[in-house]
Amino acid sequence: MRVAIVGSGIAGLAAAHTLQGLADLTLFESGDYFGGHTHTVDVTLPDAQGTPTTFGVDTGFLVLNERTYPNLLALFSALDVSIAKSDMSFSVQADGAGPGGQTLEWSGSNLSSVFAQRRNLANPRFLRMLADIVRFNRITSRLAEKGEDLGEHSALLQPLGDFLREQRFSDEFRDWYFLPMMGCIWSCPTDQMLAFPVATMVRFCHNHGLIQVTNRPQWYTVAGGARQYVQKIVEGIADRRLATPVRQVLRDPQGVRIVTDGHVERFDAVVMACHSDQSLRLLGNGASQNEREVLAAIRYQPNRAVLHTDASVLPANPRAWAAWNYQRAPSADVESAQVCLHYLINRLQPLPVTQPVVVSLNPQREIAPTQVLGEYAYDHPVFDLAAIRAQARVHDMQGQRHTWFAGAWTGYGFHEDGLKSGLRAARSIIDTHGLVPVEGGEAARRQALPGVFA
Ligand SMILES: Cc1cc2nc3c(=O)[nH]c(=O)nc-3n(C[C@H](O)[C@H](O)[C@H](O)COP(=O)(O)OP(=O)(O)OC[C@H]3O[C@@H](n4cnc5c(N)ncnc54)[C@H](O)[C@@H]3O)c2cc1C
Repeated sequence: MRVAIVGSGIAGLAAAHTLQGLADLTLFESGDYFGGHTHTVDVTLPDAQGTPTTFGVDTGFLVLNERTYPNLLALFSALDVSIAKSDMSFSVQADGAGPGGQTLEWSGSNLSSVFAQRRNLANPRFLRMLADIVRFNRITSRLAEKGEDLGEHSALLQPLGDFLREQRFSDEFRDWYFLPMMGCIWSCPTDQMLAFPVATMVRFCHNHGLIQVTNRPQWYTVAGGARQYVQKIVEGIADRRLATPVRQVLRDPQGVRIVTDGHVERFDAVVMACHSDQSLRLLGNGASQNEREVLAAIRYQPNRAVLHTDASVLPANPRAWAAWNYQRAPSADVESAQVCLHYLINRLQPLPVTQPVVVSLNPQREIAPTQVLGEYAYDHPVFDLAAIRAQARVHDMQGQRHTWFAGAWTGYGFHEDGLKSGLRAARSIIDTHGLVPVEGGEAARRQALPGVFA
């Protein structure tokens, strides 16, 4: 059986890894590296002795935790990929909102960093935000633990903006904590964030331990960069094609034709492991009504990531530096502005240098070109109510007309979601076509990765 996989992000790699040895695979990747949002790049900077040192830095997927990434941890263990402890501290900079019209700066790492600006000890607005954080954690934990009906008819499908108003959360809580935290998680602008259903936020934050004060999960990163796992999977795929964009996917009763520049090739099945909007474009007029409605409803938001060494984008007071540093947009365009977030990589990954290495998502001001090490475009899915409803229909599209869909967009947008979707697509192909190992027992063992569908 010939299977085409379009896209080499975690979703496509998971499908390929599972199907390896069971089908004749071709992995198509339009980019000039495998991995999609898993993108480790080499950086050379002087170490403590001043000797130039080259090391890998993740500019996309960075962290996972021991609680909500069971399949990813199982995959890393099966591939013998090492992980290292990471830090998930979080800081906020809000222009003009601080004492005396200064920039407000605080970070949740410890009491000293919360009050990095000591004047906030006597700032009633800041103290109100802290009190609201405690109240928010209590309310949402109760909702999640009660197993409140978060289904189709739940009141919790109301947009987050309405929920915050109804529950009388303060503007300080909304602007200096809640929206920054949500924006960091989902990398989307405030107005889109406020349209998210409450249920999505409650379920996600509870699962990830983000609304618990104690018993928070430990976060990890891949030692040496996430490309470690990509390389191990890709090495096992004989027919892997870089810089080979698929231009069209044509379906007929016999199977699928994959159109690339100058070639048309026939396959028995295809796994569309690119983004929902990209899949829709590739299917074009051949998309069924269901496919068209579902794929169009799950939109993507463009983001620009800049890798650099300019620490001046971080809070002015180093006491407020954190692993994730959110910078609120100037008030005029705060609602529609893209999220601006500075990842301080030295806190997230073990690096051999002390010089700050930063990945800025949608930086508010240009970074000096002499300090820029690279620039990348990463789109994120937008999970508004239309998208959440559309996700429930993805299952019905699977396997129709020799086509399976995979991608982090089918879940919450995270790595575990991408992985699970790829595993699920592969499993469904195996079951539909009764695939058995071509040779040896290793492929069969691989299909049964521990933790699959955990
Ligand atoms: C800056 C950033 C940080 C993140 N951090 C985390 C994190 O810490 N933890 C976490 O869990 N998640 C994180 N994410 C979310 C991350 O996007 C997902 O975890 C996941 O990597 C997405 O995987 P995917 O396979 O769905 O899509 P992608 O990784 O985007 O893969 C899709 C692939 O399809 C290819 N493609 C598209 N069109 C075509 C075509 N026509 N022909 C051939 N190939 C095509 C693309 O080039 C791409 O390689 C982060 C994302 C970003 C951008």
